[in-house]
Amino acid sequence: MAAKSDSTSQTELEREKERYAAFVRNSSEGIWCFELDKPLPLNLPTNDKIDWCFQHGYLAEANDAMAHMYGYKSGKKMLGARLTDLMPADDTQNIEYLRAFLDNGYRLNGVESHEIDKYGKDKYFRNSLVAVVEGDCVVRVWGTQQDVTELRKTDELTLANRQLKAQRKALVQLNKTKDDFIALASHQLRTPASAVKQYIGLLMENYAGPLSEDQMKYLQIAYDSNERQLHIINDLLKTAQIDSQQFELIKTRVNIGDLLKSAVSDLGATLGMHHSDIEWRHLDDVECSVDKNEIKLAFINLLDNACKYSYPGSKITVDVSARKNYVKISISDTGVGIDKGDYRRIFEKFTRVDNNLSDTVRGNGFGLYWVKRIINLHGGSISVTSMPKKGSTFTVRLPL
Ligand code: ADP
Repeated sequence: MAAKSDSTSQTELEREKERYAAFVRNSSEGIWCFELDKPLPLNLPTNDKIDWCFQHGYLAEANDAMAHMYGYKSGKKMLGARLTDLMPADDTQNIEYLRAFLDNGYRLNGVESHEIDKYGKDKYFRNSLVAVVEGDCVVRVWGTQQDVTELRKTDELTLANRQLKAQRKALVQLNKTKDDFIALASHQLRTPASAVKQYIGLLMENYAGPLSEDQMKYLQIAYDSNERQLHIINDLLKTAQIDSQQFELIKTRVNIGDLLKSAVSDLGATLGMHHSDIEWRHLDDVECSVDKNEIKLAFINLLDNACKYSYPGSKITVDVSARKNYVKISISDTGVGIDKGDYRRIFEKFTRVDNNLSDTVRGNGFGLYWVKRIINLHGGSISVTSMPKKGSTFTVRLPL
């Protein structure tokens, strides 16, 4: 009778073992057991215990789910791996993980470790573990783990994203402060500079009595310098205005050809002095909804540049062609031209590009930046093509 009951409990035990093995095999969580090839004495100081674990720990059991987390096909392939092969021993996160386990009565729940997979890639696992103590030593540690690498990456991305947003906000604020400063400074500078112009003008018109030739010569120099100064102040003010979010266009329906003719007429003296000849190649009768003053200034800027960067007696060709949804305006010159590598740079703020004439013509590299901003604000575009020493064509497209 006794023999029969022994064999029954033996069978029960076998079944229990099988059920346990099946559970471990089929679990989606990683299940492992690290043995210590030299049992860990409980009375060591914690730091020595940590070193001991790294030195003597090796993988004695691992299910397939765990193996997959490290890039292996099956648990069997991993058996015998040293703890340090999987878990860098110099990583503070891992040292603190083991310290928490040892100081917490040899058990731990849901703590992250930093590990390395078969391909040398970083992995992060959330672990729960408990030690088996025999006598005065820990002999093995059982545990489960979940792969939280992707989750951690998402957390890191979210954090980086948040930091970027904060940085962007700070930069936008900084930029606004700079724009406000430029606007305020140029505004404050304009009033006294204009007063200087006014009083030099009065002197030159002999309001304070007749002037000698030398006095007139020196005043003319002062007048010209003051003009340049006012020009720069006005450009700074215009930059601050166009860069501010509050810049508003006042749009009306305008005939583009008429606007160009008016721009040419305003530039009459400059063109005349330069003996530049304007040719109207093609002039479609087309209307657009634009801010008349701003677009006219943009045209004046382009025509002035065409004149400035050409030798006297050059030809400027203007073309206005209506397309289905937009009007195309081309202003071509026969001047010094622009290298292809500088096409983008010439539209940048306060950027001048050296050419054969840039030493003799005035400018502060502001014009094309402003022109591009104005045209973009209208929903249009501007581009350039050029042949060095032969000439350039600036093409503006404005929506109808
Ligand atoms: P600025 O004329 O004050 O230098 P712009 O912004 O109007 O400033 O022009 C930027 C640069 O583009 C100029 O320094 C010049 O090198 C180049 N550029 C502009 N228009 C022409 C043109 N029609 N022909 C040749 N170069 C030009």
